[in-house]
Amino acid sequence: MNPENTTERLSFPADEPVHPWLSRLLEAYHITDAGVCEGIRREELQGRKLACSKGCAACCRSHTTIPVYPLELIGISWYVTEKIRGSVREQLHKQLLNYRDQDGCPFLVDEICSIHELRPMACRQFNVFDTVCSEGEDAWYTRRKDVLTPLKEYTDRAFDVMLPFYGIEKKSERRKVIRDGTIHGIARVLKDCNWSSLAEKMTHHDSRLANNG
Ligand code: SF4
Ligand code: SF4
Repeated sequence: MNPENTTERLSFPADEPVHPWLSRLLEAYHITDAGVCEGIRREELQGRKLACSKGCAACCRSHTTIPVYPLELIGISWYVTEKIRGSVREQLHKQLLNYRDQDGCPFLVDEICSIHELRPMACRQFNVFDTVCSEGEDAWYTRRKDVLTPLKEYTDRAFDVMLPFYGIEKKSERRKVIRDGTIHGIARVLKDCNWSSLAEKMTHHDSRLANNG
């Protein structure tokens, strides 16, 4: 799903001091993206060619089980409400308001991920080699061998950075919930979330801004 070709950490200098959770999330995404870059690099050394590219979005319509963690949901909600502007905002608002769980991902606008900077870990890590997915295909099920296997050490570190947000501070506890997989129990499925409530939040935000002049 369109990996970053840079491993530079995303940064929102005006927002991070206001929202301390944001730095933690951006750090986790930075580690995730570095892991994806390294994973792709290793596959390319074996002669494989990444099939994903900008504007390629069949996966965003066909995937039905994308996990999204609570901190990621907060990030998406913030980004959509406060950062997306213009025609993309208008279109996204409509899609969120009318979202039904049999639709594709509500954040796909004109074949581009409207939350690309804050898209979930699962989207960042889903990359396919050699052949572009056909419409309706989820390569995880049709040809698992062509799907990048995320590098565990990076994924574990990304979760480790996020865990204090959930009140899991001690190193030994963090290790345990990552090792035994308990961390995944708090994930939601993206398509099952109540996205119309996010559209309402956008409306409130816009009215407040309009009222404040
Ligand atoms: S190749 Fe498949 S996984 Fe990659 S961006 Fe295209 S549709 Fe998505
Ligand atoms: S958030 Fe949605 S549109 Fe964005 S990459 Fe993930 S599935 Fe695609």
